[in-house]
Formats: sequence, structure tokens, C-alpha cells
Amino acid sequence: MKLVLSKDITPDQRAALDSAMAADGCSTREITDSGRQVICITGSRVKKQPEDYLSLAGVTDACPISTAHKLVSREFKTEDTRIKIGNVVVGGDRIVVVAGPCAVESRDQAMTIAKEVKKYGAVLFRGGAYKPRSSPYSFQGLEEEGLKILAEVREKTGLGVVTEMTSPAQAELMERYVDVVQIGARNMQNFELLKCVGKMTKPVVLKRGLASTIQEWLMSAEYIAAGGNTNVILCERGIRTFEPYTRNTLDLSAIPVLKKLTHLPIIIDPSHATGIREKVAPMARAAVAAGADALMIEVHNNPDQALSDGPQSLYPEQFGNLTRDIYVIAPVVGKQMDFDYLKKSEVIAGLGSGTSKTAAFIGENGAYSHKASLAYFGDDVTSVPMKTFRDIFTAVENGSVEYGVIPVENSLSGSIHENYDLLQEYDLKIIGEVTIRIKHALITHPDVDPKDVSRILAPAHAFTQCRNYMEQYAHAELVPVKAAASAVRHIKDSGDRTMAAIGSAMAADIFDLEVKAQSIEDNPRNYTRFAVIAKAYKGQKKVSKTSLIFATGNQPGALFEVMKIFSEHQINLVKLESRPILGKPWEYMFYADLEADILSESLTLVMDELKAKSEYLRILGRY
Ligand code: PEP
Ligand code: MN
Repeated sequence: MKLVLSKDITPDQRAALDSAMAADGCSTREITDSGRQVICITGSRVKKQPEDYLSLAGVTDACPISTAHKLVSREFKTEDTRIKIGNVVVGGDRIVVVAGPCAVESRDQAMTIAKEVKKYGAVLFRGGAYKPRSSPYSFQGLEEEGLKILAEVREKTGLGVVTEMTSPAQAELMERYVDVVQIGARNMQNFELLKCVGKMTKPVVLKRGLASTIQEWLMSAEYIAAGGNTNVILCERGIRTFEPYTRNTLDLSAIPVLKKLTHLPIIIDPSHATGIREKVAPMARAAVAAGADALMIEVHNNPDQALSDGPQSLYPEQFGNLTRDIYVIAPVVGKQMDFDYLKKSEVIAGLGSGTSKTAAFIGENGAYSHKASLAYFGDDVTSVPMKTFRDIFTAVENGSVEYGVIPVENSLSGSIHENYDLLQEYDLKIIGEVTIRIKHALITHPDVDPKDVSRILAPAHAFTQCRNYMEQYAHAELVPVKAAASAVRHIKDSGDRTMAAIGSAMAADIFDLEVKAQSIEDNPRNYTRFAVIAKAYKGQKKVSKTSLIFATGNQPGALFEVMKIFSEHQINLVKLESRPILGKPWEYMFYADLEADILSESLTLVMDELKAKSEYLRILGRY
């Protein structure tokens, strides 16, 4: 049973509630969900009727939880659970990639692979120290020695470490050496082990049993949660079927099923699922497309010599190719593969509690810019809305916010020139970029009949982007507004049930409104790229792009001379745009994005040539 508590519940009422439940032989678990305090009552004597609880002081609502799993059910907690492992969050907008060998074989092997997978975007390292092998004669793992190696990997690389725990006797060692404990498929229903990890402080990756139903799997997660540890990540790793071409059958349909049934995050392990190297990448790509929060991939520097699971282990370069594909796929489903994840989180964590960890964006909460800020920073920084782009630049410049997130171009409508001009005017740095898919939704008050909609609010470009869909609303008045999120806020504030807005599903959620139609844009390839600005660089790990502005002399071939430098040094130019120079009519600046770190030592010659061939040159950012 789920009880919603009154905002004004007194500590005495709250204590009385607990004792009443305890007297009934039940226990309570309190959480905050969508801003409300709710408790879950569990135990064999939970009463069936909400009325039995509604009379209790401090209780405003009661509803039964219909599923056998309670604490981990979506009915109890409607918000997604986000699990923090060091600076990494599983269950947020960023795909978490866990990679490493099946087993830790030696210090050298683990360290070599860890450095490789980190280079290609993994943020957690996996490696077994206690291996549950089918044969007693196979390699059983390095045990405590393996755990010590994992701890050293964490220390040297900054990657959190994940390893399997096979017995309650290992609990103390796991607490000491690792960041996440894995319960293997063979132990999914080892209830004593589940009770043990339920009392531990580390997050748990709970693998699905070889032949377990989703229901059984969730009940195992419930065991862990009932023990007090709700940081459970569900890992689909393939189930036994009659099919011999793959080691197991990867049940990707479990992802949407679980998303409905539970708030826990999901990690997909395509390595154990397929058992064959060449099948791993396609299934990993599909997993992300199906909504997985994380991936766990076996990678080995010398798979032929691996002591376990060599045939399914990717070579590091194959793993690198896979993460590049994930980078492209993730935004389609509203997520990101962030190659700078660790460095960025480290910098933000290092800002200290006294510093403002804030990022300014334009518009209202729920704006696409807000989404972009969350996609880039996760929950590490607070996103704050501002009214104009100039407000953002000024706030970053005077230090009242640490970062700004500004749109610079859209795949359908082109550049946002105002921001290019502001980049020219202010002396700030672009320290990162993030691209998100723009998916428009038609939003109304709950239960409004679309036939009753007579006015639709949206920014002018949104109407253009949704032209086909809007044909069915030919009778409605189209009211252009400044930003999508303000349209959504307006219909919320006005209470007007004849109005609809075009905006993000996130805005509908924030303002408690209803999405009438999803993805109503004509062209689904609608992406906006945002630049992240700050006063100074903050130790980015991998610089792969440079944005610069330059002006050339007004003589024939001047632009060509600059282009020639890029061509001769094989530097890929991904954007080139001209803008009038402020205050100098008919004179132009060029904005260029290059796929290179122009300040790296190997390119000093390029910089020298650029300076020689341009009248003005400024580096806007490296990221
Ligand atoms: C493993 O992750 O190395 C492992 C043994 O996996 P599973 O429990 O899924 O077989
Ligand atoms: Mn393995």
C-alpha cells in the first residue's frame, strides 16, 4: 500500500504512523516522489482497502500497489531512480558504459584494459575476482588479490569498479575494495546473498537468472530493496532458449517491460547474451535504441589468451567503434554518450561547495535548453532559467553562474545568429557542446478533447516544423510566442482548456499537463546543437574540436588562403559561416569549427600560418 503524506504532517503524527504499522507487523519506507512524501507499507498483514489507512492523521491519500514487487515498483515511485557511483549517475540522461575483461587476470592485464576502455568512453571498469565457472577445473578468479587490483585500477584511472560477489562471506572485502557489487545470473535467486547485499552500502548490479522471468527478477530486486538497499541496477544478460547460434537470447523486450514495471535503471550485457564477439556491437546498439540506461561490455587486449570469455570479448578498438556509434544513436532516444563524462564531473565536483554550480539557459523550466543543460551536466549543476541570451552571457561573465548553455544551430533551421554575435562580443570560452533531438509534443490540460482546442501557442519556428500535423487544426488560431516552454507555462497559468501548446514532453511533465500527441514535427531529424560557455577552460580531458573566428583582408583569394591551411594539414572543417563585423557594415568575420585541437603542440605550425593569413583571429573554444 502506498500512502501519500500531508505536507504538514507533524513529527509526532509521523512517529505514530510508524508505530501503528509496526503494531500491525508491517514496515514503512519513506521516499520523496515528484515532490511528495510517500510511504510504502509492506508486510503480510497490509490491509487491502485504502479506507483502512485514510483515517490516519497526516495521510492524504492511499492506494494499493497491484504488483507483487512493492518498493521497486513504478506504482510506488513514479520517478526514475538515479544511482550515483562516484561522479557517475546510472539512470540519468547519459549512457553509462561499463567495460573490462570477464576476469581480472593480472595487474598488468587489468591496468592495460582499463586505460583502453577509459580512452574510448567507459566510465566504470568491470572485472571478476570470484568467477562462478561451470567447471571446477576452470580459472576461478584471483579472489582478494583481484579485488586489490581493482582498487588500484580505480586509484590510477579514476574509473569506479564493478565486480561479482558470490558469497556473503565476501561482503566485508567488497565494501573495502569496490564501488558496485554484481550478483551473477547463477545467483539471482540466492536469497541469502540477496539479503546480504540488501544490507550493504554499495549499489548492486542484479543480473537476470539464466531462465528467470521478469517477475522473478523483480522479486529478487525487491529482496535487496527490502533489506534497505534500493540502489539496484537490473542487468539483462540473455536468457536460455532453444537457439544454439548464440550463447543466450538477449531479451531486449525486457527494457520497455521493466520501464513500465519499475523505477530501477537497466543495464544491458550483450557480451554474455550473445557469447560471440561480432554479435556484441549490434546488440549493444539496439539496447541503447530500446532505452537502456547503461551497457556492460567485455573487452580484452588479448582475447585469444583470455582465461575466460575470450570469444565474446571485444578488442579495444572495436569497443571504441561501438562507443562512437552509441554517440550517434543516443540522442535519437533523448540520451547522450559523453566522452568527457568523468573529467567534467570531476571538475564540477572540485568546484567546492561554496562555488555556484549553476548553468544558465534561456526560457522556462522544461525548455529544450533546459533539457540540453541536463543532458550535459546531469544533476551535478543546477540549471537556472534566464530571459535573454545576453543575460546568460552577462551572468557567466560576472560570475553569478558558472556556465551557460546556448543553442548555436538547428539541423533544420540553421544557425542562431544572435549567439554567434554574442560569442564575438564577450570574452568567454566554449568548453563543450551537446546535441539534443527536438521532439515536439502537443500539450493541453488533462482530459481535454482535442476537438475543443481552438488556440495553439508555440514559437513561430515550431509551427513551421509541425506544418503537416497542424493541418488537422486548420480551424484553430495559431498564437506565436517567444519560447516553447513559455507557451506551456501560459496554458498552465491561464487554466484555459481551449488552448494547447507545442513543447517538450518534459515541459508537460514539469507543469503537470498532458501530452496529446508525441513527435509531431514533420522531419524527425530535428536536432539542436548547444554550446556550453564558461569564463575559462576547466581541464577538459579530450579536445577534439576547436571553434574560432577569423577575419581576412579584403583581397581576392583571402579566404581561400586560410582554407588552404586546413586542407594542407588535413584538418576537417565541420562548419563555416560568415557574420557581419559589429559596427563595420559589409565587413565579415568567419566562424569555423574544426575537428582538431588547434592549440595542440603538433599544430603550432597551423596556428602560425593562420595568424599570418588572417587580420583577426580568436579561439572561441576547445572541447
Ligand atoms: C560475468 O559478468 O562475468 C558473468 C559471469 O556473468 P553472468 O552472471 O551473466 O553469467
Ligand atoms: Mn564473462
